[in-house]
Amino acid sequence: MTDETVFSQILSGNIQCDEVYSDEKCLAFRDIQPQAPIHILVIPRKFIESLKTAQDADKDLLGHLLIVAAKVANQEGLESWRTIVNTGSEAGQTVFHLHVHVIGGRPLAWPPG
Ligand code: 5GP
Repeated sequence: MTDETVFSQILSGNIQCDEVYSDEKCLAFRDIQPQAPIHILVIPRKFIESLKTAQDADKDLLGHLLIVAAKVANQEGLESWRTIVNTGSEAGQTVFHLHVHVIGGRPLAWPPG
């Protein structure tokens, strides 16, 4: 599968985003429809459709995404936050380019819906 998602458009600069972090492996930006006061998406520059299709060779990149998630959460001054990777449409994935949600700034209920 090729990357024809809105996130590939963001990565190429065709669609603007509110960037909070960038490096050679990933980009982090604010979600357009925030579910909490802080809602950031961390996405790999490499196209991976979802966690379901991630390979052993992606393990360093996946670890990097989590380290960056913590970095941006700290950057935003969050004491507590939630990282979420929705995988598959029934789990709420709507953009099929792997991404880590970083959500915080309000109390978060558990279990999630
Ligand atoms: P998913 O539902 O796939 O786990 O998360 C996709 C997220 O991408 C959603 O929270 C949605 O609001 C966000 N999103 C979709 N299109 C855009 C966009 O054009 N810009 C930004 N910043 N976020 C987007």
